[in-house]
Amino acid sequence: MNTAAGAAALDAAQVWAWLGDVPDPEIPVISVVDLGIVRAVDVTAGDACTVTITPTYSGCPAMQVIADAVTEALRSHGVAKVTLVSQLSPAWTTDWMSETGKAKLKGYGIAPPQQQVIDISGLRGGVKRQPMPKLDVICPNCGSTHTQLTSQFGSTPCKALYKCIDCREPFDYFKCH
Ligand SMILES: [Zn+2]
Repeated sequence: MNTAAGAAALDAAQVWAWLGDVPDPEIPVISVVDLGIVRAVDVTAGDACTVTITPTYSGCPAMQVIADAVTEALRSHGVAKVTLVSQLSPAWTTDWMSETGKAKLKGYGIAPPQQQVIDISGLRGGVKRQPMPKLDVICPNCGSTHTQLTSQFGSTPCKALYKCIDCREPFDYFKCH
């Protein structure tokens, strides 16, 4: 293997790899890259780069912590100048989360984001109405879909608190946006 020499110019792929080691402050098992919030890496000079980050939702309180962690990680790898750009549009979507990230979330006991399923069974009769789109959140403990929303806000505003009816375990669900 030919490892980069000290004098080698900064390489965007290398920066991505380093960022892959920066954990999300709220869910430390997944990296900021797995979370899908790092949108772009632009190497602007031999020791400088610009990192574009889209917060999971605007006003996410963890963003400053994430920005600091990213800057610190890259500086520790010798990147002298780290410029962070916060890009709000297009808005982050859970589709940007990697499959690895979703698997790690599940392993951590957090139900990964799922596509919302609109239950139209009630519409067939033409009388019943569904007040809300139905979302079958899968319990990360036992895999049951018999789960119940306990609170819109879990341990952080990005998560909702659910309870499994089958195994009775409460768990966090990473909300879709
Ligand atoms: Zn369960």
